Amino acid sequence: MPPSAVVVGAGVLGSALADRLARSDWSVTHVEQYAPGHVRSGSGDESRLIRSAHGADATHAQMSRRALELWKELDRRLVCESGVAWFARRPDGWEADAERVLTSLGIPNERVDPAELFPSVRTDDLAFTLLEPEAGLLRARDGVRALADRAVAAGAERVTAAATPQDDGARVALDDGRVLEADHVIWACGGWMAALFGDVLDLRITHQDVYYFGVPGRWAAPGVPGWVDFDGAFYGMGDLDGRGVKIGPDQEGPAIDSLDAERRADPTLERVAREYLGYRFPDIADAPLVGTRVCQYEMTSDERFVVAPHPACTDGRVWLLGGGSGHAFKHGPALAERLERWILASEPAEPMFSLGPDRRHDVQLRTGGTPL
Ligand SMILES: Cc1cc2nc3c(=O)[nH]c(=O)nc-3n(C[C@H](O)[C@H](O)[C@H](O)COP(=O)(O)OP(=O)(O)OC[C@H]3O[C@@H](n4cnc5c(N)ncnc54)[C@H](O)[C@@H]3O)c2cc1C
Repeated sequence: MPPSAVVVGAGVLGSALADRLARSDWSVTHVEQYAPGHVRSGSGDESRLIRSAHGADATHAQMSRRALELWKELDRRLVCESGVAWFARRPDGWEADAERVLTSLGIPNERVDPAELFPSVRTDDLAFTLLEPEAGLLRARDGVRALADRAVAAGAERVTAAATPQDDGARVALDDGRVLEADHVIWACGGWMAALFGDVLDLRITHQDVYYFGVPGRWAAPGVPGWVDFDGAFYGMGDLDGRGVKIGPDQEGPAIDSLDAERRADPTLERVAREYLGYRFPDIADAPLVGTRVCQYEMTSDERFVVAPHPACTDGRVWLLGGGSGHAFKHGPALAERLERWILASEPAEPMFSLGPDRRHDVQLRTGGTPL
């Protein structure tokens, strides 16, 4: 008989796993307290970048490349193939490491003149610009819904209820009074993991805002690519689907008090985003603010996922899946594919995602520079 699983959480990680297991004929119950990709979840924004460059880290580069393939397989319309440009402020920094790794893996990349990519762009602080032409933008919330719906189409049962772990997560107590059990229980609860499993997980849940500015049509994606200024700690993209040019200040924000609290963008961050807009893209310095989104990161100390059995559960029945640290869209479907094998013990789990001492602390995966 195929194994059974309860997957709690319908953000990108839980939905990708529910989809993967259901399509492998597992008997899957997928529990979500609100709706897949709802606005309070980490996965609730319209768009996310997907890129393979991860500095010197080849594992993440390969996993992201595989995830891109899987997103396109799910629905090509989810991916806007705009490319992603890396603004390298140093000749020998993170981007140069990434360039070496991408080239060694055969992932297309090239040094380009950014003036050919953007209608206006400041370049006097850049050593070079690296373009990943096959990277791009994901229609993120649509993607989460598509994964969760495909899981149901493959036989998963979706349950709308809030879950509380019992017996170190082996039993799933629902707020409708039911208690679910299965061969395997996987908790993929994003920022809520900190409260549910704070005794075994060390996650920082931080407030992160993104800002959308209204711009002329020549700033539309895919003509204008996504971009990352790693040392500046900003990222963004051209205008996707008329939402506006997106600017994301990527400094780690303050701790978020409550995931259910009102979501108001931070006026200080808004000023920082506008300053960057004018600094990097002078022609649109005065573009009107047309939207904001308040979101959260679930940060681990080394910016890597946690994908590990619950330490109290020695038979590997209960798994914790989270610690997205700003990355889960560019890896989600590929991580789910691997996690299925780890749960079945047909392949050893990746030590760098464990809760033990094998985690590495040497490579930075997200931007982390000094703000302007
Ligand atoms: C501003 C911002 C920009 C980002 N940019 C990128 C990017 O460009 N590229 C990229 O790859 N990633 C990016 N990320 C990161 C990515 O969005 C997150 O890593 C990802 O969405 C986290 O997914 P998740 O499934 O772990 O958590 P979530 O999306 O938060 O999902 C968790 C789900 O679990 C449910 N849940 C929680 N507790 C319970 C419970 N007790 N019972 C039932 N259900 C429960 C929640 O309701 C929620 O739906 C960004 C994040 C932010 C905030």
